[in-house]
Amino acid sequence: MQDEFDDFADILGDNDDGGVFAGSGHRSYENVKQSTQANGLRVEMQCRMCGKPGALNIDWNELFVIGTNGPNTPVLLPPNWSLSPTTKSAVVTANCSCGKPGYAVHVTPDEAARHVQTAMKSGLMQPQQVEQMKAFVRQQRGM
Ligand SMILES: [Zn+2]
Repeated sequence: MQDEFDDFADILGDNDDGGVFAGSGHRSYENVKQSTQANGLRVEMQCRMCGKPGALNIDWNELFVIGTNGPNTPVLLPPNWSLSPTTKSAVVTANCSCGKPGYAVHVTPDEAARHVQTAMKSGLMQPQQVEQMKAFVRQQRGM
């Protein structure tokens, strides 16, 4: 899947602090592992239905869009994401090979913004890409 980015191992680390799940109320997931990749986050977990291991990749652009949401702002989400009414976090799900949507990742705007900041500082998200995403968000919000 993303194994071609193993060369980044010296500057990237696994975050076992709860990461995108911190404060999301989704601590019921067991064995969730989050790691930083060149193009985004990779969240490994087990299918809720059958327990089969799988992973979701969330790219920086998705996190950027989620991170622009705030208390006084209309919600803007990347394609395929929805808003959890209970946790106020953005949610994306994926189907497991068992045919059920057994994989889900919750990200709050604060968490997303923090990941984007880290990606910018470490050069994984280039200034040009950031400017493109700013323009995209402004356009989406009609600003
Ligand atoms: Zn499954």
